[in-house]
Amino acid sequence: MRSVDEHRQVVAGLFATAASTAVPLADALGLVLAQDVIAPLSLPGFDNSAMDGYAVIADEIADASADQPVSLPVVEDIPAGRTDALTLKAGTAHRIMTGAPLPAGATAVVPVEATNAATDTVEIRVGAKPGQHIRRAGEDVTAGTTVLAAGQVVTPAALGLTAALGLGELSVIPRQRVLVMSTGSELVAAGTPLKPGQIYESNGVMLTAAVREAGADVVFTPMTDDNVEVFREALDRYCADVDLIITTGGVSAGAYEVVKDALTDSVDFVKVAMQPGMPQGCGTVNGTPIITLPGNPVSALVSFEVFIRTPLRAAMGLPNPERPRRTAVLTEDLTSPRGKRQFRRGVLDADAGTVTSYGPPASHHLRWLASANCLLEIGEDVDQLTAGSQVHLWDLA
Ligand code: AMP
Ligand code: MG
Repeated sequence: MRSVDEHRQVVAGLFATAASTAVPLADALGLVLAQDVIAPLSLPGFDNSAMDGYAVIADEIADASADQPVSLPVVEDIPAGRTDALTLKAGTAHRIMTGAPLPAGATAVVPVEATNAATDTVEIRVGAKPGQHIRRAGEDVTAGTTVLAAGQVVTPAALGLTAALGLGELSVIPRQRVLVMSTGSELVAAGTPLKPGQIYESNGVMLTAAVREAGADVVFTPMTDDNVEVFREALDRYCADVDLIITTGGVSAGAYEVVKDALTDSVDFVKVAMQPGMPQGCGTVNGTPIITLPGNPVSALVSFEVFIRTPLRAAMGLPNPERPRRTAVLTEDLTSPRGKRQFRRGVLDADAGTVTSYGPPASHHLRWLASANCLLEIGEDVDQLTAGSQVHLWDLA
């Protein structure tokens, strides 16, 4: 039997980072920058007002007060977006709005709250220091500066900055494109009435969500029955267009193991010393990496967590590709099969630092996984854990 760590290594070795590509800003959120972003222009692009108020020459109103306001004729009105070049003449004021270009010659902006807000002759009731409420050109970004570095994850704020610089695209490491294939003649898509012996397909839905949650793209989700030709045909149709193939089902020891039967040449089918998730396989089909997960739903998702999620995220350059690991105090006694690494579903109380296993260990109990917030990781050499001991866990929250 192969160890969990060994299989993790083999699977990770199949992943490759796709070539960087330029994408529109709308598609870049959450991806990793492949290149530095250098500002093509300065921000602000011109001196502008930081307040709604009046552009003035500071010296002319230095002594203004509520008792002795200074009155100035308002000779221009400058809303944001005015594009003609204006000059403030001595002894006058321009009404100006936040973000509007400062007229040449103005040395301060008096907020409207410190005036009578008039549009003909303004009464200014406080003095102003030179430079007050003026945003200077380039004080945020100087043209030519590196404002975002390769390796950074594109966040909403990074997109805002990029857009403010007038750039329409970013060079990023693309999302991995994944084919999620579920197999089983008993599977029926939601919405179709069940015949006796049939079940609703759930692994494809679940793994598609898991792949997306990990930051990758699922581009095809075919479902096939346990027929080698049908399975092979579906695989051949899609495999050239994806970076990774994930299948579920058809890899254990029974008859009608469609994945095993179809891929004996290209996939290494192994037993991994873990519970759940013992039957595993990985390899390449026409050059595309394939990971064949077991069909039991808990096995499938736990296997995704243990083998796929980390290298998938790493292939997209994402920082911290692994789930956060921690330890917590176990609230109960537990047994675990010696010789296998066990991943039990758990509920972590992060404040108390305690964890309780959740649901039975068998691999069809999806209900419990659905409300768990962590996986307990119990080592191969452990067969008993007592209440009060420290256990390792993967934080899924
Ligand atoms: P298999 O590995 O194909 O023998 O499947 C093991 C168990 O998982 C069986 O009970 C299957 O019915 C179930 N199973 C396999 N694939 C799926 C799926 N896509 N959705 C729900 N259950 C599945
Ligand atoms: Mg099956």
